[in-house]
Amino acid sequence: MDSVIRMALIPGDGVGPEVMAEAEPLLDWIRARGRRLEVLRLPYGADHFLTTGETLPESVFQDLRDGCDAILFGAVGDPRVPDGRHAEEILLRLRQGLDLTVNFRPCRPLPGVGQAGLHIEVFRENTEGPYGLQGSTEPGRAVDMAVHTEPAVRRLLEAAFAGAAARGCALTLAHKANVLKHGHGLWVRVFQELCAAHPQVPARGMHADILLCALVQDPRSFGVIAADNYLGDLISDLTAAFAGGMGTAPSLSWAPHRPFRCAALAEPVHGSAPDIAGSGLANPVGMILSTALLFRHLGWKPEAQAVEGAVAEAIGRGMKTRDLGGSLSTADMGTAIRSHLPR
Ligand code: ATP
Repeated sequence: MDSVIRMALIPGDGVGPEVMAEAEPLLDWIRARGRRLEVLRLPYGADHFLTTGETLPESVFQDLRDGCDAILFGAVGDPRVPDGRHAEEILLRLRQGLDLTVNFRPCRPLPGVGQAGLHIEVFRENTEGPYGLQGSTEPGRAVDMAVHTEPAVRRLLEAAFAGAAARGCALTLAHKANVLKHGHGLWVRVFQELCAAHPQVPARGMHADILLCALVQDPRSFGVIAADNYLGDLISDLTAAFAGGMGTAPSLSWAPHRPFRCAALAEPVHGSAPDIAGSGLANPVGMILSTALLFRHLGWKPEAQAVEGAVAEAIGRGMKTRDLGGSLSTADMGTAIRSHLPR
C-alpha cells in the first residue's frame, strides 16, 4: 500500500488564500479517490508576521524539511511589509533551505486562450544568482551579488536536458556570457559538457536579449528553455503571457538530488497581486494547475490529468475570470472546474 503523503499548505498573502481555497477541495477529491494524504495548514504570511513577529520559525522549517513530502504554496508579499522581509524569510528560505534547484514553468495555452499550439517549458534555477540576496547598500553605491555554483547549474541543466529528451524537443540556454563572463561563463561551460553527453537533444545557447526577440517573433520554435534565476523569472512571465496571462501559469519546484524528505513545492507563477486581493477577481487556474503538477510529481498521474482536463473543459466552455475576458469570480471559477472532475 502507498505510504501516506504529508502535504503542507501555506496560503500566504493577498490573493494567495483566495486561490488556495479553490485548490484545497482537490485534496479532498483525491483523498476520496483513495490517495493517502495528510494535510498540514500553516498560517505563515504578512498577517501572522504583523501579529506575532514570526516569519517561518526554524522548528517549523525543520518539520517541513524532514516531516513533510511536499508543499502547496499560494503567494507572499504585502504592502504593509514594504521591505518584503517576511516574504524572503518564508519563500526564499523554503526554496534555498530545501535546495529546490529546479523551478519548472510550463506554458500550454488553454482552449481559446493565448496562442494555440505552443508548448514551451521554462526550467529556471531557483536558489542562486542575483536572487540569492547577497549584497549591500551604502551611500551612493548598491551591490547585488550573483553567485552561481556548479552543482546547482549542473542540476538545473540536467533536468532541462531530461525534459527536452522526454519530449523530443529542442533545448535553448538563455545567457549573457558575453558580459556576465564569470557566472554565465560557468553556465555555458556546463551546458557545452552536457550537450556532448546528450547528442540526441538539439541544443543551442542564445544571448537572452536575442532570445526574447526570437521568442516574441516565433514562439513555436522553442521547446525547453533553461535559464538562471533572474532570466528565468523574466522569460517565464513572457511565456505566461502567451498562455493567457499571469493568472493561468503554474509552477513546480523540486530538488532532483532529493537531499531531504520534502522535495517539491508547487505555487502559481503569479505573486500576491495586492491590487486585486479581496475582490474575487483572482484567477485560480494557475494555483489549480500547480496542484496538478504536484499530483503528477507525487506519482498521481491520472488525477493530475483529470485536473488539467477539467480546467481545459471549463475554459473551453467559456467559463472564465475577468483577466481572460469572462465575468466569473475566483470561487465560481473553482466550482466550474471541479464540476468537470470525474467522481
Ligand atoms: P512577484 O514579484 O511576487 O511575482 P509581481 O510583482 O510579479 O509579484 P503579481 O502579484 O504577480 O506581481 O501581479 C502582477 C499582475 O498580475 C497584477 O496586475 C495582478 O493583478 C495580476 N495577477 C496576478 N495574479 C493574478 C491572478 N491570479 N488572476 C488575475 N490577475 C492576476
